[in-house]
Amino acid sequence: MQVGTGKSVLNGIAIGKLKIYKKKDTAISTAPVADTAAELERFEAARQKAIEQQTALYEKALAEAGEDIAEVFNIHAMMLDDDDFVDAIKEIINGQKMCAEYAVKTAGNNQAAVFSAMDDPYLQARSADVLDIAQAMLDILQGVDNASLQGTEPSILVAEDLAPSETVRMDKSLLLGFITREGSSNSHTAILARSMNIPALIQCKDIQEDWDGKMAVVDGYNACVYVDPTPDLLKSLKKRQQEDQKKQALLQELKGKPNTTLDGKTINVFANIGGMGDVGAVQQNDAGGVGLFRTEFVYLNCKVVVRTCDIGADKTVDYMKLDHEDNPALGYRAIRICLTRKDFFKTQLRALLRASAYGNMSIMFPMITSLRELQDAKAVLEECRAELTAEGVKMGQNIEVGTMIETPAAVLIADELAAECDFFSIGTNDLTQYTCALDRQNAKLEPFFNPHHPAVLRAIKMTIEAGHRHGIWVGICGELGADTALTETFLRMGVDELSMNAKSILPVRKIIRSVDLSKPSEKA
Ligand code: PEP
Ligand code: MG
Repeated sequence: MQVGTGKSVLNGIAIGKLKIYKKKDTAISTAPVADTAAELERFEAARQKAIEQQTALYEKALAEAGEDIAEVFNIHAMMLDDDDFVDAIKEIINGQKMCAEYAVKTAGNNQAAVFSAMDDPYLQARSADVLDIAQAMLDILQGVDNASLQGTEPSILVAEDLAPSETVRMDKSLLLGFITREGSSNSHTAILARSMNIPALIQCKDIQEDWDGKMAVVDGYNACVYVDPTPDLLKSLKKRQQEDQKKQALLQELKGKPNTTLDGKTINVFANIGGMGDVGAVQQNDAGGVGLFRTEFVYLNCKVVVRTCDIGADKTVDYMKLDHEDNPALGYRAIRICLTRKDFFKTQLRALLRASAYGNMSIMFPMITSLRELQDAKAVLEECRAELTAEGVKMGQNIEVGTMIETPAAVLIADELAAECDFFSIGTNDLTQYTCALDRQNAKLEPFFNPHHPAVLRAIKMTIEAGHRHGIWVGICGELGADTALTETFLRMGVDELSMNAKSILPVRKIIRSVDLSKPSEKA
């Protein structure tokens, strides 16, 4: 018996025959080419085909592993369209007069090296994604097909490394587990293995060529693989595997119970999601909430309204080194910081404009109190747009620009503001605070805090009417948007959008579906 050790990505047991998954190593010419135009054409054709492949992989992953993991392939398709990456490849073909294969491999390795050198382990792991898309283009250029490498019998695959696309392409009914010499716990391949419940061992430096065809057990609990296990060991690990299966069934019974330790400490167990499509899984698994929402995935899928930086007042951050203020809610915050620290503001706006190329994005400015502030903020946005255009950066064409209505001043000049923006989003939390002169942070004032105050409701109505007079849409994104006691009132005021925490969506929808605006309100 031989024992190999590594890092486990899933606490589970896989038992079966080992199969060495060896990709063909195809040589790449390093001689200069005469016809660079032909190489550019070959590259472009391979790139387009690779994008099509990633789209097909998205569909397969969606069915097998869910939306969260499938999004990886949307990101891959996006990376294949990334101007910097594409330009780097073209530059090698044109400038160094090299073949498409060489250019793709070199640019891929260079970009992967940039990711590997990053401090953040998540970003480090993205280098595997870059190598994956470069390999996809290389395989197309070289006519390599790895589909047959998995074999036809159920097995534990042994590879140097596995790219996410290779893992998704595999026939899962034949994949008992896998062992790789390389790989990281944060790689999408590892994430994929976890989400599909496949025991896997990565960073196993003990892999031997002669393991091919041998019986083995991947023991995820002890991060090792036993090759040719003794009959006794095999028997005990088989027993463990069966116990695992039983435990899985028992786990289902925990649904609906609190996350409380024996000594009474309760913690939150939340879910990570990458988009609305994951919400179903969050519910099925009885998560208490979403602890990480990877918004970068959302830009690809649905419309997102991004509020620019709203630091200050209760949202303090040390790195901004803001001075102590006696009245922070009335102080140096939000748009006031942005307009006086233009470099800081521009960094965010440039990032948003770059992201806008990949989806339907709107931008809105918080804490506006004057027309001048809106105009100045828009001017900085335009400045960023002009700079990025000059740099040849792709951006979305129809980015809506909106004003948050959070101050009585903004309500009173809503007509002027509406003439200069594409939408209003009413921040009822601050609007209540400023309209009623009630510090939202002060617990002692809670008995006085009345977000249903007629002045607040009137301010909302005035804002909606002013917006509609100028043909722009008006939404509510403060806490009142989720207040089902007011849903009908807002509908009757003509509100166009309500934005809220995910769990309030269905209760609010229920009310919306019960209201008939053509009839007078039944409410007293
Ligand atoms: C609001 O003020 O209603 C709002 C949405 O912004 P925040 O609560 O983040 O200040
Ligand atoms: Mg606010």
